Amino acid sequence: MSVANYETVGQRAAELIAKADRILVVSHIAPDGDAIGSMLALGHILRQLGKTNVTLACDDGVPDKLAFLPGATAVVTSVSGSFDLVIVVDCSDERRGGGVFRAAAVGRPLVINIDHHITNTDFGDVNIVQPDTVATTEILFLLAAAWGVTLDKDTAQCLLTGLVTDTLCFRTANATAGVMRIVTDLMQAGADLSSITSRTVNRRSYDAICYWGRLLQSIDLVDGVVSVRTSSNDHAVNGDASVVTLLITAEEADMAASFVETDDGQVEVSLRAKPGFDVAQIAFKLRGGGHSAAAGCTVDGSLDQVADQVLAMMKRARREQACA
Ligand code: 5GP
Ligand code: MN
Repeated sequence: MSVANYETVGQRAAELIAKADRILVVSHIAPDGDAIGSMLALGHILRQLGKTNVTLACDDGVPDKLAFLPGATAVVTSVSGSFDLVIVVDCSDERRGGGVFRAAAVGRPLVINIDHHITNTDFGDVNIVQPDTVATTEILFLLAAAWGVTLDKDTAQCLLTGLVTDTLCFRTANATAGVMRIVTDLMQAGADLSSITSRTVNRRSYDAICYWGRLLQSIDLVDGVVSVRTSSNDHAVNGDASVVTLLITAEEADMAASFVETDDGQVEVSLRAKPGFDVAQIAFKLRGGGHSAAAGCTVDGSLDQVADQVLAMMKRARREQACA
């Protein structure tokens, strides 16, 4: 999207923000660096715009490894009362906003939807959805500029965290020169790249590495799709482990998947694709979402039933995409 468009849609968002007294900012369940970075950065930006009544909420709170981010202690996991405006960040649909979004929606507030997932359902009254950005924090960087907000050190640190985590530290195919220019601006504003990488992409718990070991015992590679599955899951470390990010590095694979059975008859599915392949549409068909290179969903059914069904969809999509 061009700068002019950011100004138009950003202007509409700015008008809603200017009129609102009670604002709620929501990010997605099982939050990552972009979800928390976006929520905290927007909190700082709203305060710079003069807003004093801003609540930041996420069902699952701030993961320990992101607790270093400025403002993290202010995040709440439930909300009460009514809001004039809810700003939802990094969520491709309302369900991703979890219980805090559902609770706030009862009072029928206006909703601004700021996101970069290609599968976004445009559920807001104002939708600022930019699939060509690497992270929701990139959109917030551009909006802050359109709103005339000068970035302070804390805001820059939160924004850079989203860029780092969603690009696996600039290793994804969408890490362009334009993105690196934003990184430079954020570092000049005081963001500390080294502290962010050492606390996020360069770090995981010992338990998460042991969990990798158990998951990798089920590794399978068929028709260019590499996968693992487990029913003896460890939810405490599953998000931290993100084994699928390791799987997609297999030279022989174009797509990767992990299947983790939950205790309530569902399977958490994480998908990855090499450049030129797309897993977002597979996740979307299964009521999930994401990006062409990284997507996910939660599917009802037993482990083997869901894994076999999704792998069949992936192999078909891979064949079709290889021919396209
Ligand atoms: P991960 O595999 O790291 O959990 O997620 C990869 C991408 O897919 C992220 O962009 C995440 O937002 C998206 N994603 C993962 N699970 C779901 C889901 O259940 N629903 C939706 N809409 N998106 C998901
Ligand atoms: Mn994101």
